[in-house]
Amino acid sequence: MPLLSQVTDVRTLQEFDDEAATVRAALDDVEYRLRGSEELDRVRSAFDALEAELKDVRRSQRKLDGDVSVLNSRIQPEEKRLYDGSVRNPKELGNIQHEVELLKEQRAKLEDQLLEVMSRLESVEASHAGARDELARLEAKRAAEVGDLQLEAKRLGEALARADARREAQKLKISPQALHVYEDIRRRRGGMAVAHIQGGMCAGCRVSIPEAVRRRAFQPDQLAQCPNCERILYVG
Ligand SMILES: [Zn+2]
Repeated sequence: MPLLSQVTDVRTLQEFDDEAATVRAALDDVEYRLRGSEELDRVRSAFDALEAELKDVRRSQRKLDGDVSVLNSRIQPEEKRLYDGSVRNPKELGNIQHEVELLKEQRAKLEDQLLEVMSRLESVEASHAGARDELARLEAKRAAEVGDLQLEAKRLGEALARADARREAQKLKISPQALHVYEDIRRRRGGMAVAHIQGGMCAGCRVSIPEAVRRRAFQPDQLAQCPNCERILYVG
């Protein structure tokens, strides 16, 4: 293993690792967006709720229509008997008259309810139609978006495979000890394992670097680490 390249090779690995992490994050984001659209879910559940409400109102309307028909079928024969001369007894006629009035009162109440239901039906139908159009628009938009996202996921997947291959190849150039130090620090220091010495300070943590450590950083065959944050230091 050429000792001269030790720090340079670690810096290059850091670059490749950063690149792979950036591609990985972009791919994660695309995969997250492929899993679903919150906007579409929201509009779909609003549409489903209106669909259920519409069924409900239509059921009420049918029920009231049926009840009114039943009353009509009871009122008509009674009215016929009142006027066709088949009943002559005044008391019996009075009873029939009274019965017809009661049935008509019931029918009037139901017709009032029916008017309310019809008016509610009109407004629910309008909301339902609006939600259906909105849902169709978003579904079309989502279909196009999914196509684009799938292409993007494919492109990023390929880029990630290339970046990973580059990382693995670069790792082979670094001694196992140095690689262990690098990976350990990278994990503990939020991905940044290598730091430049700038103005006598570690660029990673801004702490002053002792002269002895600075001298070691000039030796290409050794890894100098910041005494504070432990990052691998380089000069130049
Ligand atoms: Zn430091």
